[in-house]
Amino acid sequence: MNALEVSNLAFAYGARQALQDLSFRVEAGSFAALLGPNGAGKSTLIALLTRLYDLQQGDIRVMGNSLGQQPRQALRQLGVVFQQSTLDLDLSVEQNLRYHAALHGLAKTQAKVRIDEELTRQQLDERRHEKVRALNGGHRRRVEIARALLHRPRLLLLDEASAGLDPASRLALNRHVRQLCRDQGLAVLWTTHLLD
Ligand code: ADP
Ligand code: MG
Repeated sequence: MNALEVSNLAFAYGARQALQDLSFRVEAGSFAALLGPNGAGKSTLIALLTRLYDLQQGDIRVMGNSLGQQPRQALRQLGVVFQQSTLDLDLSVEQNLRYHAALHGLAKTQAKVRIDEELTRQQLDERRHEKVRALNGGHRRRVEIARALLHRPRLLLLDEASAGLDPASRLALNRHVRQLCRDQGLAVLWTTHLLD
């Protein structure tokens, strides 16, 4: 089973071709890194995978569901951490997560259980009542990962999640995500311009 199947994808911003004839697969439960310099088209790919942009050419399947034909089934399987953080800095860690759970239609009691679970998994439990503003970059990324996993996706997309972090935090984040992948059977697609 493939968690993700990208076939002959092409995308242009007007006259500027950003992606051309891109095909690859990520097997269920596996970790994949997509390495490319700035401007290579990584964030464009993430925007297509999350349906921020409509497909122009090619096909994307998430856990066998076509993003074009079965968008709900496909999107439900996706968790995403965008390149630019989308946390509200003035809300606490827990408030950010609660807001997201509500957006996904999780009932309050279920949301509470999952938030507890994810915060423990991300070793953020003790910081749940702090404002996100008080957290360092590595911990903010962990909050975003916790948030991305609340609805139990099978594929986690990370766009440049380690950019802007110091080497020790980069290493910690990398280990952490690989462990999620091993322990949860989660497939991961991590884009980066950083060779390490
Ligand atoms: P990466 O994330 O790998 O740095 P992007 O996907 O952001 O690459 O960009 C790929 C190419 O598309 C670049 O040449 C970039 O300048 C161009 N591009 C990205 N977003 C837009 C946009 N909204 N309008 C026009 N060109 C864009
Ligand atoms: Mg980018």
